[in-house]
Formats: sequence, structure tokens, C-alpha cells
Amino acid sequence: MKLLPAALAAFAVGVTVASFATAPIRAPEDRPYPGEIHLTVDASDLEHRVVRVHESITGVGADTVLLFPKWLPGNHGPTGPLDRLAGLTVAANGSKLEWTRDTVDVYAFHVAVPAGVKSIELDFQYLSPTSARVGRLEIGHNVLILDWNTVILYPAGYYSRQIPVQASLTLPAGWKLGSALEPVANTGAQTTFKPVTLNNLIDSPVYAGRYTAQLDLDPAGTVPVHMDLFADRPESLYVKPEQLAAHRALVQQAYKLFGSHHYSHYDFLYSLTEEVAQKGLEHHQSTEVGANPDLFTDWDKTAWARDLLPHEYTHSWNGKFRRPADLWTPNFNVPMQDTLLWVYEGQTQYWGNVLAGRSGLRTKQQALDQLALTAAFYEVQAGRQWRPLQDTTNDPIYQMRRPSSWRDWERAEDYYNEGMLVWLDADTLIRQRSKGKHSLDDFAHAFFGINDGSYVTVTYTFDDIVAALNAVEPYDWATFLHERTDSVGKPAPLDGLRRGGYHLVYAETPTDYAKTSDEQRKHNNQIFSIGMDIDQKDGSLASVLWDGPAFKANLVEGDVILAVNGNAYNPEALSDAIKAAKGTSAKIELIVKSGERYKVADIDYHNGLRYPRLERDAASAALLDDILAPRR
Ligand SMILES: [Zn+2]
Repeated sequence: MKLLPAALAAFAVGVTVASFATAPIRAPEDRPYPGEIHLTVDASDLEHRVVRVHESITGVGADTVLLFPKWLPGNHGPTGPLDRLAGLTVAANGSKLEWTRDTVDVYAFHVAVPAGVKSIELDFQYLSPTSARVGRLEIGHNVLILDWNTVILYPAGYYSRQIPVQASLTLPAGWKLGSALEPVANTGAQTTFKPVTLNNLIDSPVYAGRYTAQLDLDPAGTVPVHMDLFADRPESLYVKPEQLAAHRALVQQAYKLFGSHHYSHYDFLYSLTEEVAQKGLEHHQSTEVGANPDLFTDWDKTAWARDLLPHEYTHSWNGKFRRPADLWTPNFNVPMQDTLLWVYEGQTQYWGNVLAGRSGLRTKQQALDQLALTAAFYEVQAGRQWRPLQDTTNDPIYQMRRPSSWRDWERAEDYYNEGMLVWLDADTLIRQRSKGKHSLDDFAHAFFGINDGSYVTVTYTFDDIVAALNAVEPYDWATFLHERTDSVGKPAPLDGLRRGGYHLVYAETPTDYAKTSDEQRKHNNQIFSIGMDIDQKDGSLASVLWDGPAFKANLVEGDVILAVNGNAYNPEALSDAIKAAKGTSAKIELIVKSGERYKVADIDYHNGLRYPRLERDAASAALLDDILAPRR
């Protein structure tokens, strides 16, 4: 078949389907949907990793438009994997119905429903990736992750909280599942869940697996909190008493901080697997978290990964229950706006690190060492010369975590970690101005702690944040926040560290925390000296600091280091070369493979090895120690 020129092709589509496909897609309205969805999902085909879906939708009319969820909460962007929906058929009363995809909004399907027909039957598949080359793996031979947004089409024209769904799920025989959904029936490998709104369904993913364990994180509490583990191997499920104690302390420290909970029960859905991609995604009554299988068995080496759980848990308060007004949407196909992600994610990043320290998931020293790495990154980061922090809140909408060659110059998603530094700045300022009487804890309690027990989202604006801060400690918070989020070319916001009683300094050896973190991640981070971070799996440059010494020697991300000063590359050879060049005029000579070319790079750098750490400033109070200490 010959391809038509673009203009002709458009004309041909227009004349054949225009009257059908261009029927308007109704905007969502807050009124009860006059029917329901029965959703039957079969996720038992581990060999093909194909999830088979059958849907019965009642309450349909002649102008039915079905939507595939596009804008996903927690992703803050249009990430719904529409390309993996296949095999769609629609039928009514045993006869096939025509469907046509909308050519403007390709996430919408127009269905020609005959007059008088009120119920349709859908069948389709969700083609979960079969290799990491295609996408993040979700289905393995021992663990699987099912996000309901991938296996549902829903009617346009209604708020998603107004559409009832009864879902059932078939898993491989003998597997167990965890979810915020409540099972009402089990028939063999099929579980049927209590009917919920579409909103709650999509907010309640399922983790399932062959080797599972459930730990009670609040045995004395009135509201159940569990950690549901799903692992590739049974030995990964063994949690030592002191590890369990730290996770239990996390729950109690969060309650002390927020003074509330926003769930009727809560499940940490925790994958300990290399079979499926590890993720961190928040929900009201559960969270998706992933770690390496050795998380518990190699506890001494995994501190770097241990703020993920407190981060996602904090989101039950900050993000799910209280949400920026422009990020809240009535269904999953109305675009989101992300302007306040430096609160939603930034303050969550702050409490995630603080709660990791307060609960004992990290020691105080580990929490300080992580802060040093974050602060140092922003101290050398070039992108702040052109791009305000505020602008980075748009990244989930267009950048969507694609790999990048110049991350520090692009300044991707800095609302997380620079946002965290801004909130440390605010916290220490409140503590200093109030002479220790108040802190950001009081803000968290007042702002996120309202409506105890409710998980009906309450939205907020920038002005609400400013008013709540002023109620804790009167100050010009609007200017404080604007200066830190809207400015360009200012140094990293490190006042919180200084006010917290610490200086950022550089030493010739890394902290134990940074060293272990690099070893575990298989990286050799020399960003703070020669301006490059090396992936130890293949010796390639994972990143090169914009305008840094390696950049000036024409090195780029992806280059593979072969030799250093004539010796085969290994981390020790590079460290020795950096040390040897210190205070001299000798350059560090690298031989690298850059694509199909080989090149010699002479790095003109003479300041020796530099690894960040925090140093106590005895002249000021150790507010940071107070912040990281467990609440009584
Ligand atoms: Zn988050």
C-alpha cells in the first residue's frame, strides 16, 4: 500500500468518519453516573505478560465516549500508557458495535450505541512490557503490579468519584495480593472487591506475588497499618525485630507530626524484587514502594533507600488528602497544573527525610550525610543561572523523566530536593524567630491534620500556604517563598543548614553514607571534583557537570572511560590521578570511547578529591539535631 501525502490522508479521514469521530466529548459534571462498571481482569498470564480485560458498562447512551485514563495522580502528568491498549472490541446484545478513536483527543473512543441500548460489553488487553527495553516491567514470575488505570475505559461526562465500579481480579494460582481495596469474595484464583468509585479504584493498586508477608505496623492502633511484602525469594521477607521497630516508629512519628490520619486502613505495598521495576507512588490508603531484594538482609548498606517509605507515607497527608487546587482534576482526562509541586513534593521530601531520621530508619548521621549530598548538588548546579525553581514544576508534563544528557543544566524536577531545602530554611527560620516555641511541625499539624479520619481531598492555594505559615509565625512568607521559587541566578538555598547549626564542607574522603550509597548504586561520584559521575557497571559517564572541569575537556554523558594517566580505568586509578594533580599544573589524562570514536581528554583540575559533608558550627544552636530527634 502506498502512503498518501499528509494533506490527502487527512482529507480522506475527514470524509469517512468526520460526523462520527468529531462528536463532542462531554466535560465531566459532578452528578451520579446512571449505571455502573463491572470490571473483570485476568492477570494470570505470566508468560506473555498480557492482562485480559472484560468490562460491562451500564447507563450508556447514543453519544457514548469512553476514556482511557491519561492524567495520573502522583505522576502529575499525561503518562497513561495508551500505547499498550490493544484488541479492543465493543458489543451490545451479542452484536459488535463500531468504535472510532477521537482524532484530536486520542485517549477518547467514540462508540456507536444503537438507540435504546443501555449496556455495552468491552474486551481488550493491556500489553504489559515483556522486556525493560520496551518499558518498566510490571509482571514477573514471582511479583506483579496491577495499576487499575491501565485496565479500564470509563464514560466521559462525569466526575470520576461519581462512577461506581465493581472489580474482580484473577491472579496466578496460589498467589496472594495486597491492596487498599477490600475483597468480598474469592473463587479459586479470582478475587472480587467491594464496589468503589472509579476514583478510589484507580487510587488502590494491587500488588501480588508468590512469596509474601504481612507485618502489622501499629498493633495497638485503632486504624490498621500494614506493610505487605512481595519478594522474588522467600529469604528477602525476613525482617529483624529492630527493623520492624523502626517501621512501627515511623507510623507513630507521623501521627505525632500530623495529629491525624486520612485512611480507614493503610497498606505499604512493598516489592523487594529485581523482576519488576521498583516504584514509589502515593495513594490515600496505600502506597507503592520498591527496593532491592537485599533491603532487609543487607540493612547496613541500604540506608540511602530508606527515605522512600516515609516520603510516600507523608503523601497520604500532603498530596492525597491536601492537594494544590490546580492539580486536583474531576476525572483522569482533564489536564493537571503543577504549580505547587514544591509544596506537594518538596515538603514531602523534607518530611520524608526528617521522619526517616526521627523513626530510626536512618541514624541522625545518615540523615545529615544525605542532606550534605543534596546541598552540595545545588551548590555546584549550573541550571539555576537560567531557570527558576518554579519553572521546574512543569517537568512532569513534558519532560516525564526521560533520560537527559545535561541534567544539572536542565535542572530537572528540582521542586523535590531544592524544595526540601526551602522548607528546611522555613523550619529553622520559624524556630529561630519563635525562640524555639514553634516549628514547621506546627504548620504540618495545622495544615495537614484537619478532618481527622477523612480521605476526601481538601485543596489549597499559594495564599492558603502563606496564611497557615503566618498563623504559626508572623512573617512575610509570600516574599520568602517567591524569592526562593521565582528567582534566577541566586546561590543554592543553604540558609537552613547554617541556621540549623551546620556548614557544608568538602573533605578528601566521602562519608560512610555516601560511600555505601555509591557502592550500592554502582557509581563513582566525582561531580564535586572533576565534575563527572561514573556508572561503574560499564565505566560510562552517567552525568557531566555543565561548565565543570570534565565539560571543559569535552567529555559528555555516555562517554566510556578506558584509561587514566595511562593506566586502565578503575575508581582507585582515577582517585590517584586526581590526588596527584592537586596543587600542580599537570593535567589528568583520560582516554575515552565516545560512540565509535576514541579521544584523549586532558582535565585541567588541581583541587584534589572533594566529597561533601556537614560540619557542626559550635557558634550556633544545633536546630538540625532538634529537627531530626524523635518526637516524644
Ligand atoms: Zn512524592
